[in-house]
Amino acid sequence: MLESTAKLLQEARNNGYAIGAFNIYNLEGALAVLRTAERLQSPVMLQLLPSALAIGGSPLISYCRAAASEARVPVAVHLDHCPDEQVIEMAMRGGISSVMADGSYLPLAENIEFSRKVVAKAKAMNIGVEGELGRLSGEEDGIATPEAMEKMTAPEEALQFVDKTGVDALAVCIGNVHGKYRKPPELDFERLKTIAEKVTVPLVLHGTSGLPDTMIRESISHGVAKFNVNTEVRSRYMTAMKEISSRQSFELVEVMEGCIAAMQVPIEQKILLFGSNERIKQ
Ligand SMILES: [Zn+2]
Repeated sequence: MLESTAKLLQEARNNGYAIGAFNIYNLEGALAVLRTAERLQSPVMLQLLPSALAIGGSPLISYCRAAASEARVPVAVHLDHCPDEQVIEMAMRGGISSVMADGSYLPLAENIEFSRKVVAKAKAMNIGVEGELGRLSGEEDGIATPEAMEKMTAPEEALQFVDKTGVDALAVCIGNVHGKYRKPPELDFERLKTIAEKVTVPLVLHGTSGLPDTMIRESISHGVAKFNVNTEVRSRYMTAMKEISSRQSFELVEVMEGCIAAMQVPIEQKILLFGSNERIKQ
């Protein structure tokens, strides 16, 4: 069933687990996430980047909503990393459950102003908003941020940001990076702890692919209730597509089913790691 993002995240934070927000691009991605979530009895989020929406438009949101409504587990549909107010509005009108208003590239005061404006519109439509403070380095869908531009989240600013904007969730940078880690990851858990003590909204960690299991569990114990997962699932998808389509003969439906099956492997691993399995009250 379709569920609000705020409810999914708050329940996760209260009960010491986290929700997997999986970036999907199409039907196959959505089916891989929903089939796995149903099998593992896990609440889950379908997450769309603006680059996927640029292709699928509002019918892609409608499809995700319809699939979420039919699912036997709670599902929210979320717009990921969007700095563009017009795209955010389109997604809101299209029936998205929540949006990530990404003003992380702006100076603090402007980020607050941008996020506050999005929250005001979203609240009137019962839509959740995730803000981001600090900036991750790395690469996501062709958008690259060099390491020198990385900015860790300052705990005092986090408190100010959440109070002034009214966001429902906060994405933080504590050393996590988008895409592949070029050196062993180092997360600043003291920083995360301090932020979690100051801020009551659920925290979000992007750049989860490539983080060791111990770091994921420690993050959850310090208030992280949502992990964004893109790279691992996407790369399984593309590997399966290449493998099947290099066979001498194949049908398109075999490619589709093969890709759905391949994506379910990392999705299952993440759901079990986040501890969101077996959380559905009968
Ligand atoms: Zn991200």
